[in-house]
Amino acid sequence: PQYSEPKEVRRADVTYDDIGGLGNAVEQVREMVELPLRHPELFQRLGIDPPKGVILHGPPGTGKTLLAKAVANESEANFFSIAGPEIMGSQYGESEKRLREIFEEAGKKAPSIIFIDEIDSIAPKRDETRGEVERRIVAQLLTLMDGLEPRQNVVVIAATNRVDAIDEALRRPGRFDREIVIGVPDEPGRRAQLAIHTRGMPLAEDVDLDALAKSTYGYVGADMSALAREAAMDAVRRVLPQINLREGIPSEVLAGMRVCRQDFDNA
Ligand code: ATP
Repeated sequence: PQYSEPKEVRRADVTYDDIGGLGNAVEQVREMVELPLRHPELFQRLGIDPPKGVILHGPPGTGKTLLAKAVANESEANFFSIAGPEIMGSQYGESEKRLREIFEEAGKKAPSIIFIDEIDSIAPKRDETRGEVERRIVAQLLTLMDGLEPRQNVVVIAATNRVDAIDEALRRPGRFDREIVIGVPDEPGRRAQLAIHTRGMPLAEDVDLDALAKSTYGYVGADMSALAREAAMDAVRRVLPQINLREGIPSEVLAGMRVCRQDFDNA
């Protein structure tokens, strides 16, 4: 086996139901990515090429990775993930080789989605601090993007929180020429995210998710997820005194566990 086997997540298990508060970003990504992957014949019939590259642009923790995984899963496409900073190899030519391998593998296993997280870190603008490695990675990425055939059923989704820091050549037509803004959620968006992240929890009646959504201005999806997890952990800590860790947890203790308002306030 090769040491640098591409990191592949076949059939990521995230669905659109796991995503809240992204407004029409989900619809946009479905139209740009899912539709052509599922029904390339539509585009062939009309004589237009579906997008090869889409940029998801927004602050950290807003759900860019989540959305890329969901669209891969829902399109029944294979998912190949590249973390920008991780691909920077130490040996000469290593990063480019890894990129080539991933694109090749994705082509073989099409329909595929290649997700490049933090693309600004590997493909910065010329005027940004950019060294020899970055220059070669950009050149390789351009070659690979240009080499993708529309019929190949491979879409590259890149994520960044600094879209204007990316090399302009990558954003030309036929490359990353579509952009979807993934914004900070509004109050109804945060409410939707809370519903998602508490859906498996036994909530006490005093928990007011509407009030929580109201009081969490500025929180992004990752913050809402952390809030729910912390509240649940607080509920766990409350029952700890009733538990002997060496023994099984009595079923009445388990059944009686609730996540209360207090737990959210502590979170
Ligand atoms: P980064 O720019 O830091 O890579 P990101 O935008 O890719 O962030 P994700 O990694 O997708 O963010 O989000 C991290 C976690 O936060 C998700 O696994 C999920 O639990 C939660 N989360 C983020 N955004 C959302 C959302 N819109 N709806 C529901 N959960 C979300």
